[in-house]
Amino acid sequence: MIGPKLEAIIGIEVHAQLATATKLFCACPNRFGCAPNANTCEVCTGQPGALPVLNEGALALAVRAGLALEAELQPLSRFDRKHYFYSDLPKGYQITQWDRPLARGGRVELGSGESIGLERIHLEEDAGKALHGDGETLVDLGRAGVPLIEVVSRPELTSAREACEYVERLREILRYGRISSGDMEKGALRCDVNVSMHHPGAPLGTRVELKNLNSLRHVREAIDFELERQSSLLTGGQTVEQETRSYDPVAGATRRMRGKEDGADYRYFPDPDLPPIALDTGLLQREAAALPDLPAARRERYISELGLSDYDADVLTRNRELCDLFEDAVRLGGDPKRAANWITNDVAAARAGEKSAPEVLEREELAGALVELIELVEDGTASTPAARTILARLLRRGGRPRALLESLSLEQVSDETDLGAWCRAALAQDPDAAAAVRAGNDKAIGALIGAVMRASSGRADPGGVRRLLTSLITEQA
Ligand code: ZN
Ligand code: MN
Repeated sequence: MIGPKLEAIIGIEVHAQLATATKLFCACPNRFGCAPNANTCEVCTGQPGALPVLNEGALALAVRAGLALEAELQPLSRFDRKHYFYSDLPKGYQITQWDRPLARGGRVELGSGESIGLERIHLEEDAGKALHGDGETLVDLGRAGVPLIEVVSRPELTSAREACEYVERLREILRYGRISSGDMEKGALRCDVNVSMHHPGAPLGTRVELKNLNSLRHVREAIDFELERQSSLLTGGQTVEQETRSYDPVAGATRRMRGKEDGADYRYFPDPDLPPIALDTGLLQREAAALPDLPAARRERYISELGLSDYDADVLTRNRELCDLFEDAVRLGGDPKRAANWITNDVAAARAGEKSAPEVLEREELAGALVELIELVEDGTASTPAARTILARLLRRGGRPRALLESLSLEQVSDETDLGAWCRAALAQDPDAAAAVRAGNDKAIGALIGAVMRASSGRADPGGVRRLLTSLITEQA
């Protein structure tokens, strides 16, 4: 375990693929999941004499990221060559930005309201992919030249949990701005994490870089493992070596890849094929206009203006699509608290369950349907379970709530005569539950209400059922 005296210092470099149509310096499609080496040309495979040309769309998205993260966009930035040799890098160098990044500073706000500062944001190209297996290595250059932004945090994170939240919040902002898909399972967002430990007041410890963590779980596990490894070295009087390590999720351990290289080893120099980028005010204005309300601002507004709880506002704003749906529903007259409940519970669950299913309803139609559904429950026409059935169907096949309610015969039954028959049957079937209620166990009535709801296919008015059951049980006593 981590000794009480050691403190952890964590910094993260996030590489996020930009959601452009084409690659950073050529016209090849920027598309995931194609046949190996399908999307390649002389530029992204590094053929002699081929010249890169900057994709303005990628620059625009990187600028948008800078604005969204409140960074200072630099009037002049520049591309450099970073040299190293690897099979997935045919040019022998990566085009990136070294001493003149696109943006400096910026921040990511955590749920606690604290900010994690950013060092810089720069543009660079992705490398290809080396696939190792069975004594041979295959290289897929389909990803070579895909545009990336690298977002470098300050070393201000102090735990694995905080590091994961930082990545989640950053990903949220990139998704809101339609800057990156952020899909970690597709490699669209990868993390390099720097970890060191020191005694409070003492100089910072030697840092170890954990390379290419491509899921939040790996980020958490790798940091936790590393903190334990370093603290046991340090408390045992040993030193931590500066090195680059990878994480093996099967073993749950980090492993040494190589000693750490520094800037000089890469022989950076300005790329003579690419002119410096002078930031254009028109581009800045266009991107500022394209920037949606970001999650932190929306959370704030939902709590202060719409009366949502911190929890609901947080759940809702973790997904821009749900957020936009919520705002449409409120605009169409839906009660904010109820709309938030339906969306964060039922709509979110349905969406998560059928990721690939096409969306039958336009967002605004769905928002309208939700408002109608909330009204139906409100005025007692539909029970909540019936409304849930209708919503599940709406999401699959479309349609309108009121019409569905009728065609599925799901109108709520509140008539005491009808409810009475169901209630008596439930009591007869489960005398133990009735006895438990009589003995003072109020919760036992839930089983009886559940039985009535099932018998009525969700049509019985649960409030009426509870009242009736209570009085029937008292009568029996
Ligand atoms: Zn290409
Ligand atoms: Mn990088």
